[in-house]
Amino acid sequence: MPLTLLQKIAQITRNQEAESLIHAFFPFMRDEFPALQAIALYKVDNYQPEVVYGDDFKELQTEINELIQQILNTKAIIGSQTKELDGVNLLVVKSSREKHCIYFMVYLLDTSCISEEQMDCIRAITDIYTNHQELISLNDRDPLTGLYNRKAFDQKILRLLNNGPHRRSYDTELFSCFAIIDIDHFKQINDRFGHLYGDEVLLHFAQQAQAFFRQDDLVFRYGGEEFVVILQNVEEQSAKNVFERFRQHIENYHFPQVGQVTVSIGITRLDTSMLQSEIIDRADHALYYSKEHGRNNIACYETLVEEGKLTEIKVENDIELF
Ligand code: GH3
Ligand code: MG
Ligand code: MG
Repeated sequence: MPLTLLQKIAQITRNQEAESLIHAFFPFMRDEFPALQAIALYKVDNYQPEVVYGDDFKELQTEINELIQQILNTKAIIGSQTKELDGVNLLVVKSSREKHCIYFMVYLLDTSCISEEQMDCIRAITDIYTNHQELISLNDRDPLTGLYNRKAFDQKILRLLNNGPHRRSYDTELFSCFAIIDIDHFKQINDRFGHLYGDEVLLHFAQQAQAFFRQDDLVFRYGGEEFVVILQNVEEQSAKNVFERFRQHIENYHFPQVGQVTVSIGITRLDTSMLQSEIIDRADHALYYSKEHGRNNIACYETLVEEGKLTEIKVENDIELF
């Protein structure tokens, strides 16, 4: 592999976030390989393979599915398959793996200007990308539940706040909804059943949350038995409904050995003009209210303020002093 190429790879793998890594990787591949006509990242879970990032390969879906299936059949950790079509080479390389899904990088290359050596080079670079991507993901996940951890939360919320409009968006119908979900009387579960069963409850809770919330929703393990969920671009009432249904879902779920477990939820608007600490404070106050009012409950900060049940938290200054 030429030295300049290695230097460029070193440069893009300095990215420490999964999202920015892929943003850098695709343009880099397009620049480096003029024969590259299209590139996409495919995700395979229980359903059909689907593009999660990059170009649309709709007309070649059957061929791509076939190549992915061939790679899966070999059961090897790494793997790739190619197929020559009319003037183009389709190259599929196995990429990172998560709990329930496997990713594949799919390349469409102009046969007239791609050599075998370059194909090998693309395979090798994809492997480097994959290794780095998996390391980043590992760093972002909580080892017990597999959910995004506090570090990933801090990064994500900063990005949401920096990218958002720098004005209060009370006038728009759609907003992001921020929730803290806290398991009720979790200490008692540990005390009664032991710490291992406590861990088991956290694991089951996380699985239920991942299955319940949609792909675009963000679910984090914020601390011990506290979770943060962010719903993006939702209407106020439907956000409240979603969390109410989730509260009921957990109430009705049978946790092995332990039985019933309930949660209390505090929600607030994720207003992009606010500080991270303000948003957390608001959700925390709503959560505290629902704990104080019987637990297994949901409370919304803005509604409580409107109804005079909570006094608005005012931040004197834009600059936080520590
Ligand atoms: P509340 O209804 O007011 O939220 O009461 P609680 O008992 O859930 O809350 P509290 O903050 O008093 O206790 C939380 C407990 O969670 C204490 C801590 O030992 C336990 N915990 C934190 N992390 C873990 C973990 O990873 N595994 C287990 N098993 N327990 C944990
Ligand atoms: Mg608790
Ligand atoms: Mg707690």
